[in-house]
Amino acid sequence: RSFRSAAPSAHPSGGAAGCTVVASDEGVPLVTGERVEYANFDYAASAPCLTPVADALADALPYYASVHRGAGHHSQVSTDAYERARRSVARFLGARSEPADAVVFVRGTTDALNLLARSVPEGCTVVVFETEHHAALLPWEHPAARAGRVVRLPLPATPEAAVEAARTALRESPEGPRLLCVTAASNVTGEIWPVGELVAAAHAEGARVVVDAAQYVPHLPFGLEETGADYVALSAHKLYAPFGSGVLAGRADWLREATPYLSGGGATRLVTEHEVVWNDLPARHEAGSPNVLGAVALAAACDTLTPDVQGLLHIRESALLERLRAGLADVEGVTELTLWGDEHPRVGIVSFTVDGLPADLLAAALSAEHGIGVRDGLFCAHPLTRHLLPEGHAQAVRASLGIGTTPEHVDRLVGAIADLVAHGP
Ligand code: PLP
Repeated sequence: RSFRSAAPSAHPSGGAAGCTVVASDEGVPLVTGERVEYANFDYAASAPCLTPVADALADALPYYASVHRGAGHHSQVSTDAYERARRSVARFLGARSEPADAVVFVRGTTDALNLLARSVPEGCTVVVFETEHHAALLPWEHPAARAGRVVRLPLPATPEAAVEAARTALRESPEGPRLLCVTAASNVTGEIWPVGELVAAAHAEGARVVVDAAQYVPHLPFGLEETGADYVALSAHKLYAPFGSGVLAGRADWLREATPYLSGGGATRLVTEHEVVWNDLPARHEAGSPNVLGAVALAAACDTLTPDVQGLLHIRESALLERLRAGLADVEGVTELTLWGDEHPRVGIVSFTVDGLPADLLAAALSAEHGIGVRDGLFCAHPLTRHLLPEGHAQAVRASLGIGTTPEHVDRLVGAIADLVAHGP
């Protein structure tokens, strides 16, 4: 359908439970020269800004200043906003007060997991599944990481097999500190991992657990205290707030004892000619001038996405996901990627291949001919995606849903793929 709009201003779109995202009403151009409303199916890469997040940013902009170090009014306001943001994130993640969890602002999930990799006790055994996003798979093997031994577990055939594989690997690891790294929801299949069971198994073996919740928290509530997980990592730009901010939250002790992740101002309490005394948490791992606006934006998203709101959004998203999957299942040659089968619970992410249509060509045609944004490739999870690809396919297409997704977007995507299958790009 053609998209008409007079003013090229930003307007809120989509929504349920009072949540809307900021979207341009200019539409996107097609090869025909026509403009259509953008159908964004790339929420799993980065989600558009929530309107309350944009409002919070607008409110904070006139006041932003360097935090913790200035005596001026704006610096005080910004420091207060930054520390309030930390409390909002702590609440959102159900952080524990006893013994205290730390909430460290970082640049995103990749940064959070690299920080943890440099903060585990020297020689720690880290157990990780090969299914992970590279951000969770690789930091433990970095030369600067403190892990002594990294055990990579192969793709588990079932959720129960995942729990047993983790239990066995941890049991067979040498004495000493051990950490299990798991994802809460896969960025390739959207499948939800049995975090509670994995935490119970790991704790029974005396190990800790870090959860990569980057793809989970935009869809469902996650609680540190509730799940018993020891650490959690997330990215603001997947949680309806802009880029450049994220969090590592969890047990303070390892983080407190570790050398600061970055050396520099803010991480130090005292520097003389002869010694450096590092700060306590969280400043210890937040060297440099902190990203105040990033923290404020992330906190606004956390304050908006209460468990009740997320519950309502999830009901809406589940209906859209079912509509999408049913539609795709009816198109000849479409194969959905799944590790644990069609019935396993998942968030709004579907990756698939289409026989006769390479993923990059399909993604380009969806954009140019239909105004639809998807992702194609191996999704920074090469071992998992390669394993799941059907014979004859080198890459897949991923469609991910979020707050601005509408039934029309879903129908347009399914109709476009059926059209491309029938007539070619
Ligand atoms: N973990 C998962 C499951 C992801 O999907 C992503 C991003 O795609 C990351 C980690 C890395 O997030 P960031 O690029 O924000 O650091």
